[in-house]
Amino acid sequence: MELKIEHVSKTYPNGVRALNNVSLHIKNGMFGLLGPNGAGKSTLMRTISALQDPDEGSIRFGDIDVLKDKQAVREVLGYLPQEFGLYPKVTALDFLDHLAVMKGVTNGKERKGLVESLLHQTNLWDVRKKRLGSFSGGMKQRFGIAQALIGNPKLIIVDEPTAGLDPTERYRFHNLLSEIGENVVVILSTHIVDDVSDLCHSMAIIHEGEVRLVGDPLDLVKQMEGRVWRMISEKSELELLESTHNVISSRLYMGRLQVRLFSDSQPSTESEPVAPEIEDLYFSTINDLGVNGEKE
Ligand code: ADP
Repeated sequence: MELKIEHVSKTYPNGVRALNNVSLHIKNGMFGLLGPNGAGKSTLMRTISALQDPDEGSIRFGDIDVLKDKQAVREVLGYLPQEFGLYPKVTALDFLDHLAVMKGVTNGKERKGLVESLLHQTNLWDVRKKRLGSFSGGMKQRFGIAQALIGNPKLIIVDEPTAGLDPTERYRFHNLLSEIGENVVVILSTHIVDDVSDLCHSMAIIHEGEVRLVGDPLDLVKQMEGRVWRMISEKSELELLESTHNVISSRLYMGRLQVRLFSDSQPSTESEPVAPEIEDLYFSTINDLGVNGEKE
């Protein structure tokens, strides 16, 4: 099934234009929606999940008109929000069972099988009788996936999943997401570039409420080949460099500044060519360096 988002805009009552004419066609598989904080990702995720209405635009998922037929959306949706309410005193097993009832799995035997298989799948079987309040961040996120998978969703939305997870938990969470399967649409909304590069065949970069770039991360990165340069600079020179060159990013490296530049030809004799990475694509896109055409 395909998710078709057409010309979706949203301005909040306080005047913030969170989404500006967003159009995206998303096919089965893992899709990464990448953007900095405040880009509009959560607004878009809530809109796709039929939790809030846009001012303009349409969203279709297969035959479902998402903005009109909210009940139909709920039946096919698995949603893992940034933060979801957990009852700290309830055990993982009991809460999952309760959620399965809420989602309409009323047959006791079927529900038992479902809950047990989800607990195994998310590696929470051993802690199923522990209270949710005692769970680590990674365990909570895996529980979030377990609850999102109840009822065989066809559309799974995961909002900022790995923020706050340690590297081991993140790795486990990535593995779990990658097992969900190719026959459902999974949208992973994140500001963490590695989440997308690790998992997604397809991605969009969103910034200031607008889609800035869409495509296969591998292809997009390939288009930058030969155009990314690295040089070591003094901290005091950064401002000058930024005013004369397309600085993609800069970071401290052994006390000195390592600067990555975007340029069709060698920007300075001290610079050396480097292989482009998704992070270069991301920063160049949100800084409008003209990766996909002319600089604006
Ligand atoms: P992201 O998920 O990418 O961080 P959000 O969708 O949460 O972005 O926010 C996009 C913009 O809309 C931000 O400027 C944010 O402050 C604003 N915003 C989000 N929710 C609301 C709201 N309920 N009322 C007013 N402004 C909001």
